[in-house]
Amino acid sequence: MIEANNPNLKSWVEVPEGSDFPIQNLPFGIFSTDTLSPRVGVAIGDKVLDLQNLYEGGFLANLGMSKTDFATSTLNGIINHGKASSSALRNRISELLRSDSTELTDSTFSLTCLIEMSDAKMHMPVMVGDYTDCYSSEDHARNVGKMFRDPENALLPNWKHMPVAYHGRASSIVVSGTQVKRPHGQLKLADDQPPVYGASRLLDFELEMAFITHPGKGLGEPITTYEAEDFIFGIVLFNDWSARDIQKWEYIPLGPFLGKNFASSISPWVVTLDALDPYRVSGPNQDPEVLPYLKYDGPSHYDLDLEVEIVPPNGQGKVVCRSNFKHMYWNMRQQLAHHTVNGCNIRGGDMIASGTISGPEEGSFGSMLEISWKGTKPVLMPDGSERKFIQDGDTVVMRASKGLIGFGEVSGELIPA
Ligand code: MN
Repeated sequence: MIEANNPNLKSWVEVPEGSDFPIQNLPFGIFSTDTLSPRVGVAIGDKVLDLQNLYEGGFLANLGMSKTDFATSTLNGIINHGKASSSALRNRISELLRSDSTELTDSTFSLTCLIEMSDAKMHMPVMVGDYTDCYSSEDHARNVGKMFRDPENALLPNWKHMPVAYHGRASSIVVSGTQVKRPHGQLKLADDQPPVYGASRLLDFELEMAFITHPGKGLGEPITTYEAEDFIFGIVLFNDWSARDIQKWEYIPLGPFLGKNFASSISPWVVTLDALDPYRVSGPNQDPEVLPYLKYDGPSHYDLDLEVEIVPPNGQGKVVCRSNFKHMYWNMRQQLAHHTVNGCNIRGGDMIASGTISGPEEGSFGSMLEISWKGTKPVLMPDGSERKFIQDGDTVVMRASKGLIGFGEVSGELIPA
């Protein structure tokens, strides 16, 4: 066991009961306040630990890192040091925060290095270089196949042989709290009519998780499933906003484009792969047998409870989905091995999203497309209104947690076109 994950650890920082951020988590993010410039922080309870301040006080020496890694508006510096260094940094922070440690409490630093989370403005945690979106939940792929193709052959022939994915747009990935504007585009309102230009009418969310990479190997050098975890820094919640009407008309033959790249929202705290280690579970039996480069050993899926809530402007929200990250057919190791099997290189700060995470039964579907079954089963909201898709003024909130730890949330309000 990674000692920083020991469930018996307690911190001298008071952590409220049920907090997503006990000492066993220690996720990284970028924050600022009215008086502090953007910098690296770690969440602990309802406080943020200021790592720039700690570094300047000499508490993060001998980790091979420098001030520029902490006094900066992205985590890329830390991430680019690689897995061993970022793990050592988390372990050091765990030591400093333990209830039996007096290094910080004996100095004035315990007063100046902790900021109230409510005073912190969170920023994009990483400068995302490249972004890829997978399609790795079998239940999601089956649901979509049943709706739009053949219920008897819902999965395309390649689906169980490889983690299918497309390259998305990094520039429009935004941090939680950023408003999302309903996109315009080409809509094909009727099969026998030409397309029209207008605001999307079928605006949807996709419940996903995304992992952030350390620098990979060189161009032409694949990363194997056995090496993959050494190249994964951490994970965030990911809302892949989707305009279904734009998507439906544009996606053949080259795949998702303007129906997707107007915005994707992520949670601000990056939970490290180290912190998720206690929540490993085995994945589904993969049949047919996968090619050798996609084989892996040991539990490589993660048991994380997920939920999606739609909160209308009047504030009475409704949870429309409860799913779990373990419902993936392809795991992150396989996704990364497949992504690089042709020699494609990855860089520090790349983001690879899971694809919509649907479970097997109604109530666990990860998009309104599936929840309302193409608009045929509207969701009844507490105020009596119905939702087939997302309406202007709605805020979509996604959460993830398990056992001791959680991710906080990713939220985004849809504003009119
Ligand atoms: Mn997606």
